[in-house]
Amino acid sequence: MDGMGILKGLSVTLKRFVDTYLEDLKWLMKGQKRYYTEEGIAQRRSTEARGIFTVQYPEEKLPVPEEFRFIPFLLYDEDENGERQVRCTSCGICAKVCPPQCIWIVRTSDPKTGRPVPEPAEFYIDVDICMNCGFCSEYCPFDAIKMDHDYELSVYNRHAKNIYNQEKLLKPVSYYADIRPANYQREEQARAEAEAAKAARRQKAN
Ligand code: SF4
Ligand code: SF4
Repeated sequence: MDGMGILKGLSVTLKRFVDTYLEDLKWLMKGQKRYYTEEGIAQRRSTEARGIFTVQYPEEKLPVPEEFRFIPFLLYDEDENGERQVRCTSCGICAKVCPPQCIWIVRTSDPKTGRPVPEPAEFYIDVDICMNCGFCSEYCPFDAIKMDHDYELSVYNRHAKNIYNQEKLLKPVSYYADIRPANYQREEQARAEAEAAKAARRQKAN
């Protein structure tokens, strides 16, 4: 019969509409929140979802996997006095491997001797050009640059705002540990093992 498809479609919509309220009521009676909570989002993404299954963006956001990558950032450690220790040595490897060439680094030099100092005087990334390949992070020998998870970077004036300088790019190691815990653990372990091997070699030589 003509129009059966339309009726079937409408019945699916109506069922979802009713299910949404029934499901909301069920959660309410259990004393749980179905919206704006991790459990609520996870449930709506699962095969158990009844009624509404969409995410209420921007109030709710889908969790991103650890390996999600969006625009690099620079890492700094904090010493015992709370001073920033920028990990970058301005070796320039990331700028060399960057396929669209969107990294600029100005090296620091000692004002007295003119010799290079292993820290960047300036560091820029044009985030409009960055293609989020992650090469800079893969190749950095000092774990000084990592890919971020923050994808909400829209601005009104991209020409003025989207060339990130060092200040904008710098984030603490604790932030990195937070967004990429498995990577952080692996790197810290490798670092500790390398230190231990170095100490053992030194001891042997003495
Ligand atoms: S971020 Fe890493 S690869 Fe790039 S200049 Fe700094 S130390 Fe070198
Ligand atoms: S993620 Fe890729 S494109 Fe972006 S700065 Fe790093 S190397 Fe360049």
